[in-house]
Amino acid sequence: MKAAICWEPNKPLEIADLDQQGPRTGEARVRVKATGICHSDWHVINGDWSLPLPMVLGHEAAGVVEEVGPDVSNVTPGDHVVFSFRPHCGRCLYCSIGRSVLCDGYKSARWGMLDGTQRLRYRGKEIFQLARLGTFAERVVCPAEMLVPIRKEMPWPQAALVGCAVPTGVGAVTRAANVEAGASVLVIGCGGVGLNVIQGARLAGARLIIACDLLDNKLGYAKEFGATHTVSAQSDNVVTRARELTEGRGVDYAFDAIGGEATTLQIVEAIRPGGTAVIVGMAAMSVRAPITPYAMALGEKTLKGTMYGSVRPNLDFPRLVDLYLDGRLKLDQLISRTWTLDQINEGFEALRSGQVARGVIVFN
Ligand SMILES: [Zn+2]
Ligand SMILES: [Zn+2]
Repeated sequence: MKAAICWEPNKPLEIADLDQQGPRTGEARVRVKATGICHSDWHVINGDWSLPLPMVLGHEAAGVVEEVGPDVSNVTPGDHVVFSFRPHCGRCLYCSIGRSVLCDGYKSARWGMLDGTQRLRYRGKEIFQLARLGTFAERVVCPAEMLVPIRKEMPWPQAALVGCAVPTGVGAVTRAANVEAGASVLVIGCGGVGLNVIQGARLAGARLIIACDLLDNKLGYAKEFGATHTVSAQSDNVVTRARELTEGRGVDYAFDAIGGEATTLQIVEAIRPGGTAVIVGMAAMSVRAPITPYAMALGEKTLKGTMYGSVRPNLDFPRLVDLYLDGRLKLDQLISRTWTLDQINEGFEALRSGQVARGVIVFN
């Protein structure tokens, strides 16, 4: 079973042949058909997030269920599935109130199975799986509750994106912020997630969608995904532009799809009094941003975070697939390039340099 192993930070991933144990109780084995290259994987490779290594990375993927262990009832062999990178115990406080993204029903580490054991070995050494998945691999054994069945006519690279970038971006608008028709929206960062915030705002009926990025090619993508105005962070002040476009007031909602000090402060400044600023992008763990409590209180501003777009995977993933198949959700345009697993380091180089909206690894 071929997979890409991250041995230590700031080194290329190594493609190696691993031993994989079959699924145990509550687990399934999935043949991966496509997996996206996401900034969250990059955070591990470049050492922003220090996780135990060696690890197979990858968490945005789709594939076919090949085999299930005992006591699995939500998927059967042959099902087409999208991986959800959060477990869903169904019993904890968060699962009970419909916020399964925050599920805390398991005490085991997030890089192994729910019972705390590992399914991957390389020359006898245990290899961890990012988010209990590790989809930069031909096959994945994972908790079956993290698999969401989808319609079989969904193409694979597009299905993979329904596992991270699309729900994270669209859900930030429709689930976390509840943007209403006619609203004004600012989106900072127009990569895989930011473009989906933009199309989420379009789907929600936002009237004004201002997109901001450093790179002109990303602003071009933003227009295609529904931005009504673009701001180049190279040459323009995004807060000033957001105010100019809203009669000096500021936008109703602003989203930071990057996750940095400057961008966090910009979204808080760019919203009108009573507005909502949402942190969507996952920052490096060390990032701090000094907000001004006085201005927050005076302007009755809301600053909130959203993880995974605050989605409910079992409900929202099939719905996103329906929207794509109905022609209302743009996914083809997100996939700038595809690679094979052997070319994965080239894929990360393209991500790092901002050449792509999304790069996807495709398997035969
Ligand atoms: Zn991701
Ligand atoms: Zn739970």
